[in-house]
Amino acid sequence: MIRVRKTKQAFAENNENINQQLLDDQYGKCCYCERLVDTDFQIEHLQSQHNHPELINDWDNLYLACSYCNSHKSDSFDNIMAPSKYNVEEIIKQEDDSKNSKVIFSSNNEDEKVKQTIKLLSLLFNGKDGLRKTKANIFYKSYRDENELLPTPYCRLSLWRRGERSGY
Ligand SMILES: [Zn+2]
Repeated sequence: MIRVRKTKQAFAENNENINQQLLDDQYGKCCYCERLVDTDFQIEHLQSQHNHPELINDWDNLYLACSYCNSHKSDSFDNIMAPSKYNVEEIIKQEDDSKNSKVIFSSNNEDEKVKQTIKLLSLLFNGKDGLRKTKANIFYKSYRDENELLPTPYCRLSLWRRGERSGY
């Protein structure tokens, strides 16, 4: 989940203002899966409209999510960590379990909010459609690029070209 810094409140004269402000605050990404949303986004009520009708227009409750994440997050995830209040990536560890083709989320923090966020992320990333694979591939690529433990041929070649690696 991305860290969202809410800047200013957009007012509801028209939905375009709201969408644009949320897009700016979230760097154009879905708050859950971190994919760039382009035009595939929906306004996401962190606490669901069904259980919390009083928060439908509450700015702090509004985020943007891609249609996949929005449709998979049901009304039963009303107590997750708000991406504007917590740096989720510092609290929840994410690892790629390549053997079982899964993304594993874990935390030492036993708080109910943390547990529920882990449950939601596991559902989103290990669901039956293609998101899990896409995200797992992104993890692999950034892991390799950053740690250079398993450099791809392309990385090795570009390091060699820049003179940072000899004997290749
Ligand atoms: Zn998403």
